Amino acid sequence: MNVIVQKFGGTSVGQKEKRQHAIAHIKTALNEGNKVVSVVSAMGRTPEPYATDTLLSLIDYPNGFQTDREYDLLLGCGEIISAVVFSNELKANGINATALTGAQAGFITDSQFTQAKIKSMDVERLKNELKTVDVVVVAGFQGQDENGDTTTLGRGGSDTSAAALGAALGAEYIDIFTDVDGVKTADPRVVEDARTIKVVTYNEISNLAYQGAKVVHPRAVELAMQAKVPIRVRSTVEEHVGTLVTSKIEDSQTKDVPDRLITGIAHIADLTQVSVESSDKAPINHSEIFTAMADHGISVDFINITPSGILYTIPQHFQEKVKRILLEMNYAPHFYQKCAKIALVGAGMTGVPGVTATIVQSLAQSGIPILQSADSHTTIWVLVEADKLKTAVNTLHRAFALNEL
Ligand code: ADP
Ligand code: ASP
Ligand code: MG
Repeated sequence: MNVIVQKFGGTSVGQKEKRQHAIAHIKTALNEGNKVVSVVSAMGRTPEPYATDTLLSLIDYPNGFQTDREYDLLLGCGEIISAVVFSNELKANGINATALTGAQAGFITDSQFTQAKIKSMDVERLKNELKTVDVVVVAGFQGQDENGDTTTLGRGGSDTSAAALGAALGAEYIDIFTDVDGVKTADPRVVEDARTIKVVTYNEISNLAYQGAKVVHPRAVELAMQAKVPIRVRSTVEEHVGTLVTSKIEDSQTKDVPDRLITGIAHIADLTQVSVESSDKAPINHSEIFTAMADHGISVDFINITPSGILYTIPQHFQEKVKRILLEMNYAPHFYQKCAKIALVGAGMTGVPGVTATIVQSLAQSGIPILQSADSHTTIWVLVEADKLKTAVNTLHRAFALNEL
């Protein structure tokens, strides 16, 4: 039995008209002789009634009285509603379908509510269902822990559900249907002329995703990569196949940019840069600071350590908490608010001189100060002021001619 997994994001199942496009894609896959496992996200975006953020607005999270366990219980409802509505419409279109929750589809997770990790998959039930129906619609983003509690996989986690099912079922491929026509050279909401990439490697897309390109969840990419199942990122309302994510870009017609230096640019906004300098009153103790951050569940990033100080970034909403912690430790931290981190990702930059020079030069010409930078062999990061983010990303996109083929 050939199985393919087709995942439809929130905007792809929000309205009946969009769901008709989704059903057309499923029909195409069925006509090609496949069985389909369709993973769905909660319907629409807030303020639409069953969207994840709308459900979330019903409780005062994280300040209210509910626990993380109850948060997961509430948020899981969005995907369940979506799965039943979608399966019902498939049946109305003459397609033999049924709906399953994440737990029923075999997602067994740990008990880390709001950010649960998949421990194992038990897809026996799902395989049995596929013997009698053509499409199983699975509620994305959720699983069940060993106590039978509903868990969720972190925001954007329906991609992860799709990839985990694709891997467990040995699917031919995983289609991620969304509101853009593929993975682009930058977020199209920031760069208007961002180009759709035809083929990208798992590593490159994983890097882009970790650096903020939310078009596909990084965990989903990892799971698909381990199982060697290709991903296609595609538009729900269009026909063409969008971006193919695979392990190696072969010299085929699909190779769109030979020897490209930079594959794409991603960004993360809403960061604060923290700087702590050693003083007579409080000589710097690097490990004490990082231990304190970890103990308080604060993720730190973009870390620069010198003998006399530390520079790092935190999500902006942690700023007050971090200030309190550091003041209690007698440090006098300095905060640079409203920063954004830009990542230029590309396997082609390895060993090529001049990439950093182009970045520094083009940003300087646009009057954008670099607050911090770092690099690895496939990624260069710069931190800029958030209000210069759009100009900075567009400048860099142009400097590397990413809009051109
Ligand atoms: P879904 O609900 O379908 O999962 P998401 O909102 O999670 O959709 O992801 C799609 C969005 O990701 C797009 O609307 C786009 O604005 C954003 N995005 C960010 N970076 C990129 C990129 N490099 N390529 C394409 N889309 C991107
Ligand atoms: N509905 C969930 C979210 O908004 C999961 C997803 O859409 O992937 O984060
Ligand atoms: Mg998403």
